[in-house]
Amino acid sequence: MKIIDILQKDEMSLSFEVFPPKKDTAFENVRVATEKIAALHPSFMSVTYGAGGGRSRYTVDIAKNIEDKFDVPLLAHLTCISSTKEDVKNQIEAIRGAGIENVMALRGDIPEELQGSDRSDWDYHYAVELIRELKEGPDDFCIGAACYPEVHPESANQREDIKHLKEKVDAGADFLTTQMVFDNNLFFSFLYKLREAGVTVPVLPGIMPITNAKQVESAIKMSGSFMPQRFRTIVDKFGSDPEAMRQAGIMYAVDQIIDLYANGITNVHVYTMNKPDVAEGIKNNLQGILGKDFLDSAN
Ligand code: FAD
Repeated sequence: MKIIDILQKDEMSLSFEVFPPKKDTAFENVRVATEKIAALHPSFMSVTYGAGGGRSRYTVDIAKNIEDKFDVPLLAHLTCISSTKEDVKNQIEAIRGAGIENVMALRGDIPEELQGSDRSDWDYHYAVELIRELKEGPDDFCIGAACYPEVHPESANQREDIKHLKEKVDAGADFLTTQMVFDNNLFFSFLYKLREAGVTVPVLPGIMPITNAKQVESAIKMSGSFMPQRFRTIVDKFGSDPEAMRQAGIMYAVDQIIDLYANGITNVHVYTMNKPDVAEGIKNNLQGILGKDFLDSAN
């Protein structure tokens, strides 16, 4: 099933994101965790892809395993910056071969050792090139792309960032998902600017439940996202008690999601990070809002 068909329904959707194992030895644990998350029947699931190649091998394996066993549509991430045209072609073939109809087309982060190097002979420079390639290919993929309410760190300013984002949509991106946001007002203000700039596709806010204190600094480092004082206070109070912090982190995310739905945002994406207990906590706390059958039934 194409994800755009889910997003365009006049109904609330809730999707979950998982990541593939880095090493063979972790495959089994990740398989089990992702199956538990799939058993919650989110609207769709996305499986990330490692820009440096480390996690790349298993994206399709994990996605296909879920798709074979559960009636959950899959979105396979694909990055291009550290890849050759041949690598990308092979990965697209693998995605097609697995029967996956949805691709999240990304540039990926520039590996540290290559930052500042001459990129003129690289096969890819920006995600838009991958989107164009996917559109020109024989497949009719539904294409997602990334966006940044708090501005991508390499952009000079938000105007430039939105200009390049619009290029991705004009090239064929069917929907956008944001980096993790902890303050809904940043998302609402970004969405307003996108609509003003003529970007009309669905935009999914990315919600990251932070369930342990250590995650706070790593999440900020990874995404550069603004962490509201309200959440920092929660971490100060409960960070040293794992069970209290887990519950507080889930409830903070649930509160954000309820606020988004209440304000007319119908599609929300949750970075569940291979944590079935967190996915389940989110699901259980939204059951009454989404309708009791929502997550228990296939789409
Ligand atoms: P782009 O859209 O290419 O943008 C990168 C930068 O270049 C931006 O500053 C943009 O404004 C600028 N730019 C774009 N086009 C041009 C142009 N023509 N000229 C000049 N500047 C331009 N990373 C992974 O490795 N694996 C994943 O699975 C993954 N999943 C993600 C999912 C989401 C929802 C998000 C938000 C990010 C994800 N990332 C993932 C991280 C992402 O790869 C990085 O944020 C990366 O630095 C940018 O990728 P992009 O696709 O947004 O790049």
